[in-house]
Amino acid sequence: MHILHRYFHSYGVKNIFRLIFRRPETLLTNMAAFSQGNTARQKSLIAVCQMTATSQKNDNVQTILNLVSKASAMGAQMVFLPEACDYIGESKEQSLDLSEPITGTFLQEMKTAAVQNKVWLSIGGYHQKGPDTEKVPKIINTHVIIDDQGNIQSAYGKTHLFDVDIPGKVRLCESDSVIPGTEIVPPVPTPIGRIGLAICYDMRFPELALSLAQQGAQIITYPSAFTQTTGMAHWESILRARAIETQCYVVAAAQTGKHNVKRSSYGHAMVVDPWGAIIAQCSEGVSLCLAEIDLDYVAKVRSEMPVWQHRRTDLYGRVTALHSDSSIISPEEQDSYQFGHVIIKSSQVFYRTLLSLAFVNIKPVLPGHVLVAPIRPVERLSDLSPAEVTDLFMTVQQVVNTVKQCFDVPSSTIAVQDGVGAGQTVKHVHVHVVPRKQGDLTNNDDIYDHLENHDKCWSETRTVQSEQDMATQSQRLRLCIYPSP
Ligand code: AMP
Repeated sequence: MHILHRYFHSYGVKNIFRLIFRRPETLLTNMAAFSQGNTARQKSLIAVCQMTATSQKNDNVQTILNLVSKASAMGAQMVFLPEACDYIGESKEQSLDLSEPITGTFLQEMKTAAVQNKVWLSIGGYHQKGPDTEKVPKIINTHVIIDDQGNIQSAYGKTHLFDVDIPGKVRLCESDSVIPGTEIVPPVPTPIGRIGLAICYDMRFPELALSLAQQGAQIITYPSAFTQTTGMAHWESILRARAIETQCYVVAAAQTGKHNVKRSSYGHAMVVDPWGAIIAQCSEGVSLCLAEIDLDYVAKVRSEMPVWQHRRTDLYGRVTALHSDSSIISPEEQDSYQFGHVIIKSSQVFYRTLLSLAFVNIKPVLPGHVLVAPIRPVERLSDLSPAEVTDLFMTVQQVVNTVKQCFDVPSSTIAVQDGVGAGQTVKHVHVHVVPRKQGDLTNNDDIYDHLENHDKCWSETRTVQSEQDMATQSQRLRLCIYPSP
């Protein structure tokens, strides 16, 4: 039960529901993995691989199977394969033709390999067929984590696409054939630690790495097919920089050598430790190397140089996974919240992100009148950081959609309460969201009189909701956001 509780907190209610709906079979194993991830052995062995994929899928699969069985025989618990390990096509059309859905043969073969070799696999990138290739003839560059029971534990679509033109050297336009991923995936608990997923070009965007580290990643993976030119100039520096600034292990499997007449890759698959030292690196050609992952060492580096405590978020804000599923947090993460001088019980809160919360109003002027506020108790809108402002208004947008659906009304009044001069009775900047329909008040704009006066007379207890009423309404709103299975 304790694990269940922590699992819900770690994964967020929305993710849990997503699993229940989309991959119910994965939920239990996922939870088991979570418990393992939290009791991950402090030291474990991984294998990082290097290969030269071509358009011959069968040959590539054979290469992968050889690498995986060799890694397993050498004692690796998890094997990391590069981006495009299924194939590297010779044209856009061929790439699309060879692509497969998540239920396709390629991943099936990978699941079998994981079970037979008793290892976890990072399939660093395979060509997942897009949802409607008739309309949009593109693939998704998907990184998949498979556990040693053959279950998919996580999948991430590459978010930064390599559209680069360096005359005479590199010319690739990934977005011609790839649909970009739309979310940062929460770090996945595994027996070797919590792994943050990324792919190749993503390594140039430290915000993604920081966001993953902030969400608890101890290891970040960048399976790659780096070009020769960019590899020679940047590969090692970027990987080491990401490891140093996140204080995570960085694991980068790689494509190497010549795939076809047009394309070749840099290689140098490597593992960097959280202090920035390269602790393993493949030599030429198809190969693998082993590295030890030591979670105690992650903790040691972080405690000796606590950069996360030294951050000046007051100056530059904080990197936040903006309203991906991962930024939604269970309201019960805290028992109560400070709203100016008022205490808001978590049962009253129906939606919570890292920086904002939405809760039921004790004195609604119309049914469904709710409030949205930043978690940080500040009085004025101008006191908020850019990240807080963005998060607050994205939360308002979500809440508006929810109340409209829940109270079956077409419109809403949204009023930001910013300062005592505007009638603020609770000194904590907040947004009133009031569901509206025609004729609900004599004159439409009477709403502002009501907002001005509704909470001035607390002796009029008739209109004050009880704790139980508010919890019931909050539950109703939660069900609109996270429908029950
Ligand atoms: P304002 O007067 O615009 O600052 O709005 C303050 C809002 O906070 C009013 O809508 C009140 O009904 C609401 N409020 C005050 N105390 C509570 C509480 N304990 N729980 C929920 N809402 C509250």
